[in-house]
Amino acid sequence: MQVAVIGLGRFGFSLADILIENGHEVLVVDKDEKLVQEFENKAREAIVGDATDESLLRSLGPQNLDAVVVAIGDDVEASVLVCISLMDIGARYIIAKAENDRHAKILKKIGIHKVVQPERDSAKAVADHIMHPKLFDRFYIGEDHSIIEIKSPKSFWGKTLMELDLRRKYNVLVIAIKRREPMFDSSGEIKGFKEHLIAPPSPNEQILEHDVLIVLTSNENIKEVERWQ
Ligand code: ATP
Repeated sequence: MQVAVIGLGRFGFSLADILIENGHEVLVVDKDEKLVQEFENKAREAIVGDATDESLLRSLGPQNLDAVVVAIGDDVEASVLVCISLMDIGARYIIAKAENDRHAKILKKIGIHKVVQPERDSAKAVADHIMHPKLFDRFYIGEDHSIIEIKSPKSFWGKTLMELDLRRKYNVLVIAIKRREPMFDSSGEIKGFKEHLIAPPSPNEQILEHDVLIVLTSNENIKEVERWQ
């Protein structure tokens, strides 16, 4: 993928680094020369400049990139200006970092495709982890629903989805099963799992001991799901 990251603060810097580590072509822009220098040997382009300058943005060719990330937080005016210019130029997909709820509201209002609040988003994930220790992962779907990952409870092992009838009993839908086959070390201990996804699972699919269930549920129902034993 080809991605531009504008603003190399803690968030933009880490994001650009991770994308490069994973083999993507990244263009970075920051007005701070020292930060840009860190990317000189690894980014496709490392540009020192003010991103509120529209000609600089045009030179990135945002209409040809898979995504442009605007990671300027403190200077809300600059962030909004850059976003509007990118939209005018025809950037295909814009992700913008918001400093606070007000900033996020403005970015959403002007039609930015995805708005992130890194501190808030990661605090939410940690709070979720504390409140729902049994969940391996959670993705919010709108306001009221989530897709959660949960280890298959013992009472499900050996039973088919049809027999379990979770949809009728709990009003949840198992949309996929992550089948994990254990790999053992020489002392017979599990050293890891080989995984494959069964999606969507057939009603005749039997649940096995190490399966992880991927479940679509209302947020109200999550506590109930966590009580599965
Ligand atoms: P983080 O929390 O991720 O560290 P932040 O929101 O505190 O980020 P900011 O100070 O807003 O960080 O800016 C992030 C980066 O964006 C900084 O390195 C800054 O130099 C750069 N930056 C800010 N405005 C512009 C601009 N107009 N053009 C280019 N770079 C900019």
